[in-house]
Amino acid sequence: MARILIIEDAEILGMSIQVALEEFGHDIHWSRSLESAHRALEAFQPELIILDLGLPDGDGTNFCRKLRATGSIIPLIIVTARETLAARIEGLAVGADDYVVKPFELPELMARVNALYRRQKWHGPGEIRTIGRLTVDLTRRITLRDDEPLELTDTEFRLLTYLMSHPNQPLSRAELLVNVWGQSGSTQTRTVDVFIGRLRRWVETEPSQPDVITNVRGLGYRLNVSD
Ligand code: CA
Repeated sequence: MARILIIEDAEILGMSIQVALEEFGHDIHWSRSLESAHRALEAFQPELIILDLGLPDGDGTNFCRKLRATGSIIPLIIVTARETLAARIEGLAVGADDYVVKPFELPELMARVNALYRRQKWHGPGEIRTIGRLTVDLTRRITLRDDEPLELTDTEFRLLTYLMSHPNQPLSRAELLVNVWGQSGSTQTRTVDVFIGRLRRWVETEPSQPDVITNVRGLGYRLNVSD
């Protein structure tokens, strides 16, 4: 059972999604605007989000982009009438995990919600992760080292959460530059090395012999997670 935030301004559709999810035992908060959704992020602490794009006070893609920029990895499904390939690609590019085009059959949406939620649970409990010496609360953006609060800069936090959302995968410096710094991949790879060095000081037991963030020769880095 998950806490699910529905962001949808169409009354009948919102209600039918709510009823269907409640039948699966999920706990629902339904927001009809982005403003209400922003409040619900704090107050309701959702574990999964279903997001419409055309909303009375803005576009859902902006909501998704902002959410991901905070480092949040809450599973998110876009539900929209925008069916073009370009719209789907944009939806996934701003950080949605799945994309469902209206009109759709409710059982299909339920199956996707349940699959996404199951996958999330396998990857760890809720939004709190332990990486090496660090405990990271992704929802509240708090990082603890050996239970002491640690002040990470925005870039450090984004790099850390990007690594955490791609565990045990070799990541190139170019990919990290694009996704963390928003820069094209050909320049400034030295920047990546500097920031990885900083993270290692906090994450590793022995920073000179890293075993949490390891080098991938000729490519970049890998965050090693066992679960
Ligand atoms: Ca709408």
